[in-house]
Amino acid sequence: MFDIERYYQATDIQDAVAALCADPKAMVIAGGSDVLVEIREGKLAGVSLVSLQGLAELKGIRLEEDGTLLIRPMTTFAELTADPLIRQRIPMLAHAADQVGGPQIRHVGTLGGNLCNGVTSADTASTLFTFNAMLEVTGPAADWGGKGDPGDVLLAKKQIPIAEFYQGPGKVALGTGEILTGLRIASEDYKGYHGHYIKYAMRNAMDIATLGCAVNCRFDAACGHLEDLKLAFGVAGPVPMRCPETEAALKGMAVGQALNQIGARAAAEVKPRDSWRASKAFRLQLVRELSRRALQQALDFARQEGGAAHA
Ligand SMILES: Cc1cc2nc3c(=O)[nH]c(=O)nc-3n(C[C@H](O)[C@H](O)[C@H](O)COP(=O)(O)OP(=O)(O)OC[C@H]3O[C@@H](n4cnc5c(N)ncnc54)[C@H](O)[C@@H]3O)c2cc1C
Repeated sequence: MFDIERYYQATDIQDAVAALCADPKAMVIAGGSDVLVEIREGKLAGVSLVSLQGLAELKGIRLEEDGTLLIRPMTTFAELTADPLIRQRIPMLAHAADQVGGPQIRHVGTLGGNLCNGVTSADTASTLFTFNAMLEVTGPAADWGGKGDPGDVLLAKKQIPIAEFYQGPGKVALGTGEILTGLRIASEDYKGYHGHYIKYAMRNAMDIATLGCAVNCRFDAACGHLEDLKLAFGVAGPVPMRCPETEAALKGMAVGQALNQIGARAAAEVKPRDSWRASKAFRLQLVRELSRRALQQALDFARQEGGAAHA
């Protein structure tokens, strides 16, 4: 049923990188909710897999000394949604993770897999774009040069802004032997912000987004003006995307005016297409409607907290 050439269970990050360097055609398997489906469909028939399951160093969420949130890639959607740090500091991500699939998928699917598959509909991606998430990628050091025994591979880490990680549909900035080992959100990117993610799908569960919209804002103390706005969409282009022109235009604007303008401005900036799921015209209507609703919800959250920042 599953045509797999070779399955290797890595024992740690170094071992995983070494296994991928030793067999450059092998691919990582995390939760397997994408990979196994593709193997069964025949698209990845005969593949060799390097599993990251059970690697404790790739799991968990913690706060670094300077307030940066560090999320390891093998964290599942269910773990993200339940995590006290995420719920308290970036509840928008807890909510976005809770929109994925159904309970079974949310217990096996990982944050890392959701980003590394390079898919525009990934439910956590647009939210992470609004937090300027920085991705930590670990792979073979350049000076190791592929020489010698892969088991002796020297490791190097690099940090990649999420917007640069996405290189095209299904294509992310991971070279041979490289794996995603962490994701960081700096405190200045979440403190004081209130946001909301809205997924529109053709049914309420077990369906990928027809369009996803993430709005993340900082309001003034009276919630009368927008001090800052970050706006991102999934399925409004070949990869998840921010709307820098709309963000710049709305910064400093009275909230009433911003609510009136966000939809039209965003619709002029995105590039959705027709697909069997929805027409381009319908997706543009979703962009207009969901951006306004998400901004309104962010404002309501801010008002509920009396304009107080997430601590
Ligand atoms: C029934 C069903 C419903 C779904 N519904 C949704 C939905 O509503 N929203 C949504 O966004 N997605 C949905 N998905 C897609 C999928 O569940 C998610 O994308 C999930 O996050 C994939 O994570 P995973 O751990 O299972 O990844 P895997 O399938 O293990 O891997 C996915 C890809 O990422 C790579 N990869 C994984 N981890 C790493 C790493 N640390 N470093 C390098 N590469 C890595 C793998 O090589 C592979 O290319 C659904 C899938 C199914 C089967």
